[in-house]
Amino acid sequence: MSPEQHERAVEIFETTIGIEYSDQVERTPEWDDAVAKAEDTTPATTVTITFPSCIPAQLLDRVTAFATDLRRIPTIDLVDVVEIRTCSSCGCTDDQGCFGGCSWISDDQDLCSACAPAEAAEQSR
Ligand SMILES: [Zn+2]
Ligand SMILES: [Zn+2]
Repeated sequence: MSPEQHERAVEIFETTIGIEYSDQVERTPEWDDAVAKAEDTTPATTVTITFPSCIPAQLLDRVTAFATDLRRIPTIDLVDVVEIRTCSSCGCTDDQGCFGGCSWISDDQDLCSACAPAEAAEQSR
């Protein structure tokens, strides 16, 4: 029995029997019932797929197709597809910014302040 299942069994035991859990209760038949109940309530399985915002549309199609496939698996309850805003030049994200820190140069462009000067210089060449 996993620690989570044990925790659930304690909860089930305390709410159905009304006796506070102690080491002694594990010898009672009521405890066995609670354990059986805890074991057949499988926790919800959530799969989260993250993808960088700068990936090609073709690749994104494959990510969403993969998510659709996962949703067909009965033991998976929820499949979350989350877009991570990623700098199109260096690949940094909100969580992992550039060394020394950076910010998005605009709301509609996935380019960070660390890359912006370099990009601008390249374009003016
Ligand atoms: Zn960048
Ligand atoms: Zn950056």
